Amino acid sequence: MKKHNYSAGPCILPQEVFEKSAAAILDFNNSGLSILEISHRSKDFVAVMEEARALVLELLGLQGKGYQALFMHGGASLEFLMVPYNLMKQNGKAAYLDTGTWANNAIKEARFFGEPMVVASSKASNYTFIPKDFAIPVDDDYFHCTSNNTIFGTQMKSFPETAVPMVCDMSSDIFSRTIDFSKFGLIYAGAQKNMGPAGATLVVIKEELLGRTGREIPSMLDYQKHIAAESMYNTPSVFPIYASLLTLQWLKGQGGIAGIEKVNEQKAALLYAEIDRNPLFRGTAAVEDRSIMNATFLLNDESHAPLFDSLWKSAGISGLPGHRSVGGYRASMYNALPLESVELLVAVMKELETKI
Ligand code: PMP
Repeated sequence: MKKHNYSAGPCILPQEVFEKSAAAILDFNNSGLSILEISHRSKDFVAVMEEARALVLELLGLQGKGYQALFMHGGASLEFLMVPYNLMKQNGKAAYLDTGTWANNAIKEARFFGEPMVVASSKASNYTFIPKDFAIPVDDDYFHCTSNNTIFGTQMKSFPETAVPMVCDMSSDIFSRTIDFSKFGLIYAGAQKNMGPAGATLVVIKEELLGRTGREIPSMLDYQKHIAAESMYNTPSVFPIYASLLTLQWLKGQGGIAGIEKVNEQKAALLYAEIDRNPLFRGTAAVEDRSIMNATFLLNDESHAPLFDSLWKSAGISGLPGHRSVGGYRASMYNALPLESVELLVAVMKELETKI
């Protein structure tokens, strides 16, 4: 039986993506070859790469606006250092918003290149909210933020107007809600939430920002080299990129980001309403900053955990435990999670109430 997968990532993808990916492993485009054995320089794969890069820009509304989409390796974690390598001047400064573990990891890596200045942090409250009042120095090289904090279940609902380029780690909410993406100089995201399987990282960058740091950059870490090579500087992650293309095509069929946003809002509203109504549970994130992707919540009485755990597991739900730094539960409701899965979880929460 297919499980209701609430995993934070890698995570659920559309069923049709699993099916088409499986078919391509056996025979890609009726070529008599598996997607796993074809050359990345083959005509068929070059077409996949071109379509995937173009579709990313189309879905984000960034076509013809000076942006390039790249499929990189190394996860979002490698971008923590590629961003300062490519955008921070020698011993330069950049503003960072500290909203959680991943933001912190980005700050740590930036220290190898210059001075990341933390403009605001919610660390003292274990990252239960998004800081809102902060100033970004106009002479910084860029401002870095994390749009959605996968572990803590908080999400930036608005983005500041900045005089400097805005860089955003959108790993866990890219393609999930309408945003004016042209406000950003650089966006990056590991594929393994809303875009595809692990193994590819999306980078969307405004090309005019590159080549200004005065530093020499090793080839594999240089965005300009990857752009010049049309995202094929070395062998790209062929299969994750193909599966990402299938997911992007599926998303387009759902009405693009605006279409899926409606479903995402419906799913989140349903679950948060139950968290707030049910006296056995409480949410961990500030209400105005609650993520529509990752809902974090606790049992008010920990002794109910064994019963709740056995109920959701026997209902066919998977991946619900929270991250160890928050505890409790985390329901990750990425684009491909159907509304019915949320209805089921809500029913199980109600069932717990009747059994106590
Ligand atoms: N940023 C965010 C917001 C994340 O959720 C994650 C992983 N869950 C990362 C960065 C790290 O991504 P990766 O494992 O692809 O390096």
